[in-house]
Amino acid sequence: MIVETNIDELKKRENSLKIIKGIIHSRGRNQLHDLTGLSGGFLLKKEDLNLLETYVGPALFEDQLQLIGKKHLGGEKILGVNRTSSGILATIMALVRPDSYVIHYLPQLPSHPSIPRSTKLIGANYLEFDNLKDFYIPDNTSLIVITGSTMDHQVITIEEFKEIIKITKSRKNHDPIDKYSQTYDEIPVMVDDASGARLRTIIFNQPSAIELGADLVVTSTDKLMDGPRGGLMAGKKYLINKIKSKAHQFGLEAQPPMVAGMVRGLENFNPENLLKSLEKKQKLLECLNKNFNGFELTPTGIMITPEALNSEIENRGIKILLSDNDISFTWAMILLREYGLVTIPSVGMPGASATLRFDLAASDAKNLKLSNLVEIINSSFESLLNVVDNPEKCQDIIFN
Ligand SMILES: *Cc1c(COP(=O)(O)O)cnc(C)c1O
Repeated sequence: MIVETNIDELKKRENSLKIIKGIIHSRGRNQLHDLTGLSGGFLLKKEDLNLLETYVGPALFEDQLQLIGKKHLGGEKILGVNRTSSGILATIMALVRPDSYVIHYLPQLPSHPSIPRSTKLIGANYLEFDNLKDFYIPDNTSLIVITGSTMDHQVITIEEFKEIIKITKSRKNHDPIDKYSQTYDEIPVMVDDASGARLRTIIFNQPSAIELGADLVVTSTDKLMDGPRGGLMAGKKYLINKIKSKAHQFGLEAQPPMVAGMVRGLENFNPENLLKSLEKKQKLLECLNKNFNGFELTPTGIMITPEALNSEIENRGIKILLSDNDISFTWAMILLREYGLVTIPSVGMPGASATLRFDLAASDAKNLKLSNLVEIINSSFESLLNVVDNPEKCQDIIFN
């Protein structure tokens, strides 16, 4: 395998950032097309800049975040954290006892690595389920996590969501972390709605996580909206207070510039724009189907999984010496290097999905003609076919 460890993933990411820098310097930002769907928007106003101080900023922006955050997610109290992963870590540190269980339900594996990793870090046990048939809650459980929409944009059904909440609420928390809290005998439910807070609600017309009975929800202000890469949490006040205290102790909370960016991103958020940008995806799929079998629609664009990509290449009679993920990484690096097209497999954090997703809700997607995108995908695939039987060359493309 070419990309095997977290360190390999880091090296790949650093190489991608170097390539991006090169493109910006030689060809300009507009020759770069970020279709990750993670825009890192920072829509600050001029007057905001003077207020980004350590203690002045929070006094203003945190208050605004309470108001606009509740409007977006519901809940009694809001907490801004550095990333969605930080919110998940802070929650697990605050609410989970060592040796107890964290139970995770998601519509389809794999889960986001921050959930099992945080659980392991504090010495608790982790079980994950992607179907109701197998789902159960061991006696010694301190936290239930539901993923509303996965990294690959698989969305939970509302029936599954309600069933997990129902099962959880029928159970008791036998050894709660805080016996003096008002609902000490309940097992809290946290929803990882990183993209789901917008995807589930706007595109799938589902109620918010809080409306469905969750105690806590975390979303990424970077996904399907123009905010910075940060995490926005909401939920029951006494739970948020515990999590906030942990977040402060370990430096996981969002800093004033991020909080300001989240506020402006939420102010700017318009569901109409999201719906409009999706009209193109069916057309894109039709164009690609002339050449491929493996592309599928996602709620916000199209994707091809590493396994489907492998079949595309095998079907063309080419012998494959790479792992499925490595093929996907190689294609992503060709897309970046030759066409300035940014996707998650090239720039993602270690553990991010290797699925190649082209997100049409991304703001750069508006400036890229559909015919150009089809042309880019077709010709970069030809480049991939030329190197895929040569692992050394692929390794070079990924790391150098
Ligand atoms: C993106 C995502 C995360 C993590 O977001 P970060 O900003 O990388 O911390 C967690 N869970 C799911 C389901 C995601 O899609």
